Amino acid sequence: AKSGGRGVVAFYDLQMDQTVRARRRLEADLRGAIARNELRVVYQPVVDADGRPISYEALLRWRSPDHGDVPPDVFIPIAEDTGVIIAIGEWVLREACRTAAGWSEGLSIAVNVSTVQFRVANLAEQVGLILSETGLAPARLGLEITETALMRDRDDTLEILRRLKAMGVKIIMDDFGTGYSSLSNLQSFPFDKIKIDRSFISAMEADRGAKAIVKAIVGLGRSLDLPVVAEGVETEAQHRIAVQEGCAEAQGYYFGAPGSPPDAVGVEPPRTSD
Ligand code: C2E
Ligand code: CA
Ligand code: CA
Ligand code: CA
Repeated sequence: AKSGGRGVVAFYDLQMDQTVRARRRLEADLRGAIARNELRVVYQPVVDADGRPISYEALLRWRSPDHGDVPPDVFIPIAEDTGVIIAIGEWVLREACRTAAGWSEGLSIAVNVSTVQFRVANLAEQVGLILSETGLAPARLGLEITETALMRDRDDTLEILRRLKAMGVKIIMDDFGTGYSSLSNLQSFPFDKIKIDRSFISAMEADRGAKAIVKAIVGLGRSLDLPVVAEGVETEAQHRIAVQEGCAEAQGYYFGAPGSPPDAVGVEPPRTSD
């Protein structure tokens, strides 16, 4: 393994260097993305058992002139590492609440909140300010958090969640089934709803185990009084099974991909003079 070893090392060094540099460029460009108007929010419907939209999930999109469309799975972790998620997270919240305030009152909005945002102690205050600023009723806002958000600083996180809950905001456990110590988290934190991770939904048809897990989660939700949402529903069959297993709500390409927000209801469209 010695002969040619140098070449190999040099090759990897070069690759690593390029990766590090690409990442630095992404980091730097992400910092200015809000100011340069490169971020936007798309909305994906969440439907009830009859297939009617009752809520929308706000999902971030970043279109960079240099990097093209960067998927959130790539830029959110970078934003978290660099702390830029604090500013971006606040921007998404404001944008989504402002948009949802124009919808009919039967529709709510769900916004993803990163672990890092819980480490700014004023998250509850920030949400309160945005709600009063946009006029959105607190009960129409849901915050989606994953279990990793609960792992760190449990007491502080719990305190923030309690304050949000006291304001009337809904707390949604996202990607349920993929994290750690799920069951005790459901009991200790003030959740209003559970979203089953889409890996179980997509496996449900072919894999009895996945279906059994969905059934078990729904049963657990029922005993804890938590409605369950099936995520990533792509086919009619998946929806049928999800409803049959007792999922109260569903979300996925089958009902609509993330896109433009629904029309505002009861709000006059702005008139243009030309
Ligand atoms: P998530 O919160 O689990 O969001 C659901 C993801 O599944 C979205 O990907 C959505 O487009 C995708 N999806 C929806 N229906 C289907 C389906 O039927 N099939 C498949 N295969 N996928 C479906 P997206 O928009 O790329 O977002 C990826 C992740 O990035 C999100 O996962 C969330 O963790 C994170 N993210 C997105 N926007 C935000 C944000 O504003 N703040 C934070 N903190 N994270 C965000
Ligand atoms: Ca989510
Ligand atoms: Ca999810
Ligand atoms: Ca996810």
